[in-house]
Amino acid sequence: MSDLSGEKLSVEAIRSGTVIDHIPRGRGLRILGRLQLKNSEARITVGLNLPSRNLSAKDLIKIDEWQFTETDAAELALFAPNATVNIVENYKVKRKFTIGMPSEFVNVFWCPNANCVTRHDSVGTRFKVNRTVDGVHLQCHFCERGFSEELFTEQDRLLGLAYMETVV
Ligand SMILES: [Zn+2]
Repeated sequence: MSDLSGEKLSVEAIRSGTVIDHIPRGRGLRILGRLQLKNSEARITVGLNLPSRNLSAKDLIKIDEWQFTETDAAELALFAPNATVNIVENYKVKRKFTIGMPSEFVNVFWCPNANCVTRHDSVGTRFKVNRTVDGVHLQCHFCERGFSEELFTEQDRLLGLAYMETVV
């Protein structure tokens, strides 16, 4: 079996749902964590350190019966830039797109600044995406502080849960 057909098979092995392919190695579990927080009912299969033609190794996630939109995918842009999203129906890829970096993240991450108004009031969050030579920086619309992407990719709870914690 050639590499190409192997890759094709792994993508099409679900009846319907979403396959996120070409996730940089090591990021699969982070994404899994976020997906499970968002939809604890979802049936999710994860492949780690799979062979890849373009990356040294890749992670892959299949989600049954959950069709991603571009908005769902954009939320994962910091974790898996350039990953491929395959929307599968009846074992066939109906639609395929690449995860692109949005210009803003709205209500996706919480602000790392503990004094930021978004940490105390339920106003939602908004970060502008700035690309620099060091990578991606996010600037908070409310406290105007800029943060490196690692402060967001390490977040293991979702915004809504952060609110609940603050309120209690
Ligand atoms: Zn802020």
